[in-house]
Amino acid sequence: MEWHKFSLTMQLEMLEKGEIKSLDLTQALLNRIKEKDSKIKAFLKVTEEQALSAAEKADRRREKGEKGPLLGLPLAIKDNICTKGIPTTCASKILSNFIPPFDATVIEKLKACGAVILGKTNLDEFAMGSSTENSAFFPTKNPWDLERVPGGSSGGSAAAVAAGFCAGALGSDTGGSIRQPASFCGVVGLKPTYGRVSRYGLVAFASSLDQIGPITRTVKDAALLLQYLAGHDPKDSTSAPKEVPDYLGALKMDLREKKVGVPKEYLGEGLEEEVKEKLKESLQIFKEELGLEVKEVSLPHTPYAVATYYIIAPAEASSNLARYDGVKYGLRVEAPDLIEMYKKTRSQGFGPEVKRRIMIGTYALSAGYYDAYYKKASQVRTLIVQDFQKAFKEVDFIISPVAPSPAFKIGERVDDPLKMYLSDIYTISVNLAGIVGLSLPCGFSQKGLPIGLQIMGPHFSEPQVLALGHQFEEIVKLYEKYPEI
Ligand code: GLN
Repeated sequence: MEWHKFSLTMQLEMLEKGEIKSLDLTQALLNRIKEKDSKIKAFLKVTEEQALSAAEKADRRREKGEKGPLLGLPLAIKDNICTKGIPTTCASKILSNFIPPFDATVIEKLKACGAVILGKTNLDEFAMGSSTENSAFFPTKNPWDLERVPGGSSGGSAAAVAAGFCAGALGSDTGGSIRQPASFCGVVGLKPTYGRVSRYGLVAFASSLDQIGPITRTVKDAALLLQYLAGHDPKDSTSAPKEVPDYLGALKMDLREKKVGVPKEYLGEGLEEEVKEKLKESLQIFKEELGLEVKEVSLPHTPYAVATYYIIAPAEASSNLARYDGVKYGLRVEAPDLIEMYKKTRSQGFGPEVKRRIMIGTYALSAGYYDAYYKKASQVRTLIVQDFQKAFKEVDFIISPVAPSPAFKIGERVDDPLKMYLSDIYTISVNLAGIVGLSLPCGFSQKGLPIGLQIMGPHFSEPQVLALGHQFEEIVKLYEKYPEI
């Protein structure tokens, strides 16, 4: 059986009908990881023993007639999400020996639903990056072209799904880290509304932007996972006390005559022709096959989004990362006095990109500069929020590319941080505004690299955004394409 080609929904159906056992499915995926992950390097840790025993338990529960909405489904987890008893490194040397004594809320929820955790996936150190090259351990390769990056920072999770190591994984998205790797790897990634999914146990990067979300082969599977990830959590004061709607049930909603907007500011300089072409073809599908109205909209503050993000995110990061001081947990490099110990621990524990962010953030928050940088950036953030509010008065969805180009070559952008930062140009505003962003495949480049499409919607519009994505994927059916590894 070609286990690795099944979507989560298909796996679940077969498990429910008793056609397959979770143990066989889990074993088959573990075998595939053993056989192929030396090429891709999606996983930092494969938790084989725990996975097999969870799968066995799931099978026993099913035999007894017990039900769990994700009972026996194998998933992979980005390694910045805390897993009790399993190392959670954030792909950083400073946390290389950290074993959390607790599960993140999303992990608790997945376990309660019966999911099986296959392992922890690679990322850019502390989720800072767009290529997974900033991992302190090793870069991950793109399953469609091993010389190219899988995107980042959730590159390990996206590559694992694309390579058929699992049909679903968790990522985190602060400025595009779920959506951009999903588009580079030809899979689906959802950044939910800020507050939709609990951040408790997600290692904090930029707390006002971070959100956990699913990476899957299909939009339907993203809806399935979101169903059980979403919800209020008393342990996260920023999680929304809002009921969780029926995402799967909403997939078939009638969208005819809804309006999609294309922001004119997104189609300018830097966007590669092939990506633009695929976007146009997709708009044609929205119009002609799905009966939506397509019109131009304006998000006038778009040119300031990258600059705004690269003040706010590093500022929050510099404060969040102050906790890695060699005292409570993580790496400690001994020295004769306390200040020396801090210096040595942090100098040796953090990689160059993380240090760059800590320095930018500390500078932007320091006395005398706060007003000029952090305060100004927060004000521009409000203008970006208002841009979206205005646009969503005119249209129901906003459609854009996910990234200006398909996956770039490993090493191509490591020495040019600005160029790397610009790859987030279409994803960052969604985090600044806290709205929904879905990335899904819409075609391939001439070189055979996946190209993604982004559907944005207002706060808590996940049912509508997922429905539009699902109806589009059922026309293009790109989930039927697999990379040869
Ligand atoms: N690439 C962006 C950054 O480096 C976004 C990362 C993310 O979403 N975690 O900050």
